[in-house]
Amino acid sequence: MLPFNTIEEAVTFLGRNLTMAETLWFNYSAKKSDFYLYCHNILFLFLIFSLVPLPLVFVEMMKSLEFHKYKIQPKVSLSFSEMFKCYKDVMRMFVLVVGPLQLVSYPSVKMIGIQTGLPLPSVWEILSQLTVYFMIEDYTNYWIHRFLHCKWGYENIHRVHHEYAAPIGFAAPYAHWLEILILGIPSFLGPAIAPGHMITFWLWIALRQIEAIETHSGYDFPWAPTRFIPFYGGADYHDYHHYVGEQSQSNFASVFTYCDYIYGTDKGYRYHKKVLRKLKEQSKPNGAQNGASYYVPTQDLKSE
Ligand SMILES: [Zn+2]
Ligand SMILES: [Zn+2]
Repeated sequence: MLPFNTIEEAVTFLGRNLTMAETLWFNYSAKKSDFYLYCHNILFLFLIFSLVPLPLVFVEMMKSLEFHKYKIQPKVSLSFSEMFKCYKDVMRMFVLVVGPLQLVSYPSVKMIGIQTGLPLPSVWEILSQLTVYFMIEDYTNYWIHRFLHCKWGYENIHRVHHEYAAPIGFAAPYAHWLEILILGIPSFLGPAIAPGHMITFWLWIALRQIEAIETHSGYDFPWAPTRFIPFYGGADYHDYHHYVGEQSQSNFASVFTYCDYIYGTDKGYRYHKKVLRKLKEQSKPNGAQNGASYYVPTQDLKSE
């Protein structure tokens, strides 16, 4: 809720006219409580989990060669009912865990100082904060994910997320309830260290989930705009982690590639890509198959 009753009061407070974005924000949020604004995240997450993976469902159902050549594990195909089952499982977890977690974390959001007022942050400020949030999330998630691959962590918690050896968009948030709670920490840490505006917080929660859906999409599209982000892992990178499964000692990072590079946990992946490249070159004279296939004898090299 904004501490101004009218736009004139806001203008007096700022000492300047409101920008168009600030006027829109004033009109939308002035009479709404901070808690209500924060709860928008629940609606955004529901829409993102439900709608963003949908185009991938159509692509999978169409079985068009045009798209199929970008499928990372082309020999794995899920039926509509299998994908719908994944969505239903995710929605059950959404209602039982994700939604309530959002509700109970409101006091912490207030405590760290997420603002809803005016002025609004500049685009530059929003982009800088989002970059910091992604980097903090990536680093913290990397170590938690590595821990989840120890025997106890995998068998008791992380095994659920790895039920999809060939992931699909809907499977991005598919995990044990405890993993959802634990991985809430890396997501929250960035805003806690560098708190920003509620709009930045909304964007952060939304973009992080969209990124997770992309990396679980099962397709490595050459036109994905994320390819322009330096050190971005992407679908092929995380797909390999799911393909290897429990034994995986590769590609733990959730967003970027540099943690795995620095700590030597991308060796299996790099070796695997090298083998694929060689196989592709050898098969060229007989007509190479488009798109990478994981169905080649390879091994996930341990980092140690
Ligand atoms: Zn894993
Ligand atoms: Zn995953």
